[in-house]
Amino acid sequence: MGQKIFLRESYNFQFNHISRTVRLWLLKFLIKIRILVKGVVKIITRKILDIVEPVYVLEGAGVLLRRSIATATLDYVDPFLLFDHFGSKNPGDYVLGFPMHPHRGIETVTYILNGHVDHKDSMGNSGTIGRGDVQWMTSGSGILHEEMPKEPEEGILEGFQLWVNLPKRLKMTEPRYRGVESSQIPKIEHENGQVIKVIAGEYEGVEGAVTDIYANPTYIDIYLPAETSLDIPVKKGYSVLAYVFEGEGIFGNSESNSQNDGTPVLATKMIIFDDGELVRVHAHKKSVRFLLISAKPLNEPIARYGPFVMNTHEEIEQALLDLQNNTFVK
Ligand code: MN
Repeated sequence: MGQKIFLRESYNFQFNHISRTVRLWLLKFLIKIRILVKGVVKIITRKILDIVEPVYVLEGAGVLLRRSIATATLDYVDPFLLFDHFGSKNPGDYVLGFPMHPHRGIETVTYILNGHVDHKDSMGNSGTIGRGDVQWMTSGSGILHEEMPKEPEEGILEGFQLWVNLPKRLKMTEPRYRGVESSQIPKIEHENGQVIKVIAGEYEGVEGAVTDIYANPTYIDIYLPAETSLDIPVKKGYSVLAYVFEGEGIFGNSESNSQNDGTPVLATKMIIFDDGELVRVHAHKKSVRFLLISAKPLNEPIARYGPFVMNTHEEIEQALLDLQNNTFVK
């Protein structure tokens, strides 16, 4: 009996102990839930800061393209220095291409949607970037290259070029070049028909094909069929852009009282977002395809002149001198 009582007491003691533990655990759990709920509430959906209408410019030897960054009204969105959208049904708008020209202080990312572009450079690289392929180049201290769009057998030539700034300490780094074939670019397919190609950065745990760009940008190609939505996590404090190039989508924060948020944005437009942790997109009656581009701003002084982007005016003068003296390519 004595032993039984002891056991019962022991049992009671353990029960009390457990229940106290459970109570404590419950309390802790509730505190956690409160923190979590507060956290969820705090996630800020980015509002639209500005919608940029690309302007037509003639570049290279006479290529007609749509430019939305590096224009008279928008110099840059740190660390993005330029964004060009080339493409035309008329080969006369692009066949003259971009003959041999220099670059210093930047990295470029070229993404081809259709057609192809032949290229060669002062490092001895040469080849063709075709449909769905990506080419990235670190000009660093100096590169000379040629980019010549070719008339596709069918359809139209179309693609994009983004310039990403190099941090001050890497302006004069060694030039690099890499071509990434479309088959190497990871593709995420959602059950609702959404297709996400991760060109650079990371999305849903999938690492992009281009990993070595110094400013570490995120560059994804997103397709949303009609009547689907997507929430894209982005980092707070980062510059975030969406380039809408097919269809139309509703972007921004529905709680915003700005007209841009919640109103369909029709291709072709560059959307610049305010700060926050989430980009919300909804394709309503039509599908939408856009590029989501994001990176941490460098917050360094910018001195630019055509294909050279440095930190000071003296460095720009030096680039021009080097070119004159044939010491540009190190
Ligand atoms: Mn170039």
